[in-house]
Amino acid sequence: AIGLALSLAACSGGRGDTATTTAAAGANAGALVGVAMPTKSSERWIKDGDAVKASLEKLGYKVDLEYGEDKIPTQVQQISNMLTKGAKILIIASIDGTALSDQLDQAAAAGVKVIAYDRLINGNKNVDYYTTFDNNEVGVLQATSLLTGLGVLDKDGKETGKTGPFNVELFGGSPDDNNATFFFNGAMSVLQPQIDKGVIVVKSGQVSFTQVATLRWDPATAQKRMQNLIASTYSDGSKVDGVLSPYDGLSIGIISALTSSGYATDKLPIITGQDSEAASVKSIIAKQQYSSIYKDTRQLGDEAVKMADDLLNGKTPEVNDTKSYDNKVKIVPTFLFAPQVVTIDNYKALLVDTGYYTEADLK
Ligand code: BGC
Repeated sequence: AIGLALSLAACSGGRGDTATTTAAAGANAGALVGVAMPTKSSERWIKDGDAVKASLEKLGYKVDLEYGEDKIPTQVQQISNMLTKGAKILIIASIDGTALSDQLDQAAAAGVKVIAYDRLINGNKNVDYYTTFDNNEVGVLQATSLLTGLGVLDKDGKETGKTGPFNVELFGGSPDDNNATFFFNGAMSVLQPQIDKGVIVVKSGQVSFTQVATLRWDPATAQKRMQNLIASTYSDGSKVDGVLSPYDGLSIGIISALTSSGYATDKLPIITGQDSEAASVKSIIAKQQYSSIYKDTRQLGDEAVKMADDLLNGKTPEVNDTKSYDNKVKIVPTFLFAPQVVTIDNYKALLVDTGYYTEADLK
């Protein structure tokens, strides 16, 4: 029973044991930890970076926190610099999950351990640990909430008997981000049966990941694609009923395209998202975006710090998944957290009551 309670706690995210982390004694006390984040253009990564830095500093470590601004050479350079400065651990949220092999090899040669943060780093054996939210589940939840919003599923996930057909367009994330295909495949595992039954119609016919991907998760790119879809596929007066969007920033671009093409703000399609960024939670409250995904960046940050601290203290970090994340060279031991759907009905409980946001942040 204790084992079960522990594993459930891990699944729901609450480990509750971060207070037990201890500052490194001996050789690694006050060591430098390099933290590479992808971009400041999205609020979530700022929260991640801040959380990781603050927890590391609390344990007495020095922190080099850098943002690559979605430019691969910049991130490569930043990681090289961290190694030059003598970082003992690297915590990396990569821009391109395959572009860091030289730096990872250098790190391994210097005895520096690498923790992949949120996004898996592919094609190199020197990725020691990974912590993330269950990315396949994110996609499952996004698609399920899309179907719930359309009325195809009820709140318990049961089919209501509503058969549509509903016009849905699909968006994917950045092809160089390992997570993006997990999100898309997770979503399609839920949507494909409804497409096969004719309940969901992807009127553009663009249903493969490559057709719908959005390089660097760029909102302007998604906005443009949505505009093009409306102008081409929907010029016959038909309406878009739903949009699978994998990230709040893209959802904002998609909503702009819809409103500038004549959709009234109270008659928007059902639109999903991810990260529960403040602007999108406001949009959910205003009944424009339908849903988002909550991934508590504080939890993820704490976990990465706990892993770093364990490694610096010669301990083996705890993981709860050793099968899901194959980086094409090895399966990377992972600590996974559970994502949750946010809608107008539960945002207060999930985001405000937990202190992730204040009411004022969402005004
Ligand atoms: C993260 C998502 C985020 C996306 C865009 C992904 O790797 O897992 O939370 O929405 O990047 O920043």
